[in-house]
Amino acid sequence: MAMVSEPGRQTPVVAETDVLVVGGGPAGQAAAVAAARAGAEVMLLERFGYLGGLASGGMVLLLDDMCGEREVSVGGLALEIIDRLERIGACVTPPKGDCFRNDAEVRDRWVRWGFEELYGKKRPKPIIYSGAFDPEGWKQVSQEMVLEAGAKLRFHSWFSRAIVEDGAVRGVVVETKSGRQAILGRVVIDATGDGDVFASAGAPGVHGSYIMTLVHRLADVDTDAAIAFERSDPAAAQQLDREVKQLLGGSWEMWWLLTPRPGVVWCNCPHIPGHDGLDPEHQTKIEIEARRRFMKVAEFVRAHYPGFQRAYILDAAPQLGVRQTRLLEGEYVVTKEDILERRTFPDVVARGRDYYTPYRSLVPKGIEGLLVAGRCYSATSEAQRISREIPPLMVMGEAAGTAAALSLESSVAPRKVDVSGLQKRLVAQGVNLGTR
Ligand SMILES: Cc1cc2nc3c(=O)[nH]c(=O)nc-3n(C[C@H](O)[C@H](O)[C@H](O)COP(=O)(O)OP(=O)(O)OC[C@H]3O[C@@H](n4cnc5c(N)ncnc54)[C@H](O)[C@@H]3O)c2cc1C
Repeated sequence: MAMVSEPGRQTPVVAETDVLVVGGGPAGQAAAVAAARAGAEVMLLERFGYLGGLASGGMVLLLDDMCGEREVSVGGLALEIIDRLERIGACVTPPKGDCFRNDAEVRDRWVRWGFEELYGKKRPKPIIYSGAFDPEGWKQVSQEMVLEAGAKLRFHSWFSRAIVEDGAVRGVVVETKSGRQAILGRVVIDATGDGDVFASAGAPGVHGSYIMTLVHRLADVDTDAAIAFERSDPAAAQQLDREVKQLLGGSWEMWWLLTPRPGVVWCNCPHIPGHDGLDPEHQTKIEIEARRRFMKVAEFVRAHYPGFQRAYILDAAPQLGVRQTRLLEGEYVVTKEDILERRTFPDVVARGRDYYTPYRSLVPKGIEGLLVAGRCYSATSEAQRISREIPPLMVMGEAAGTAAALSLESSVAPRKVDVSGLQKRLVAQGVNLGTR
């Protein structure tokens, strides 16, 4: 490949902070809130003009992976955000009394919201505690949570390079409309989802991949009519469903789900495998191909699917649905067996449905001053595919933010943080580590 040489340059340092969180998705926003509430000076950097990452910009509108067999297994900021979303009418959850039940009456109420247990063996699948939310509501609530905690927000700042000195990350360089700017941090948290910071800092990692999706929503759907049709004529509904899935070329079982907005449905599809979420040529191909597919689906359902006669494409997510790219190879690499066998760890700091995250999987090898949280955490590709849902990643972010503050408070490197002290703080913050 031909190369050009870029001239060396001086970059202005525009800010300095204790904890610098890069990436304002579910993990990064939780890290920023937790570190700021713990008393650290925090700056949260984000390339776009809103918080939420894939949850809002990627329009991933279902909060799941929150339950063990008979209990809600996440806590802390993951539950706080649901509560705050519900208070502004931007989230629907099943009442506690309907959770862990699989009788027809309860299933009928919640199945089309996607509130089913995904991984259990019980049939019919039980309804579990989950949340369906509105993306604008997420942006509003997240922004206020971060600002109320006292963290500074810096939008429209695209991370481009880690500043590494003497084996430690000291800050980052971002690209902005005003040119390149440097921001220094005593502890940096990589919450970019793609591991941009740890890769630039030279921490070891692997390049994984998984299906990609251009999530979208349809509006003006008569959802009552669509549900009534499915119940009254299941065979015809299944046939139509098959035809839709053929047009999509890949989808979960339910290609549309209800949302808190009347007449608006969420389509977490099409699923397209075999591409690299870091490669702009691949990303462009998926944007084009996915849009073509769901436009065909919209036309098809308008013509054939009861309830969808007037449906139109309300919006496609501005952020492409990339589930997995770089994964840290940290001090511990979580495996599929760890997840499936529900192994816990002495240094557990977060929990998903029934799997556990050790602190070591947030700590990079061979580089100081850096923690990693979110979907680029240290796990094998197979393990990450089944442990990357929004609520557990928020808890992971909360753990990273709390650890960063604790490391500064106790003047030790993040890898040397007293883990039992960290666990105590997390539990006091309402995080469920499976120890209560
Ligand atoms: C299509 C799809 C469907 C999914 N379905 C579900 C589901 O039903 N339920 C569920 O709970 N989870 C689901 N997930 C998983 C979940 O959405 C993600 O794993 C989760 O959002 C990851 O959170 P994160 O904070 O690690 O990363 P992200 O959400 O990717 O956030 C990363 C943030 O960093 C910012 N960023 C990235 N690079 C830079 C940079 N260079 N400079 C500055 N900022 C940067 C981004 O803009 C973004 O705000 C789904 C994911 C996808 C893609």
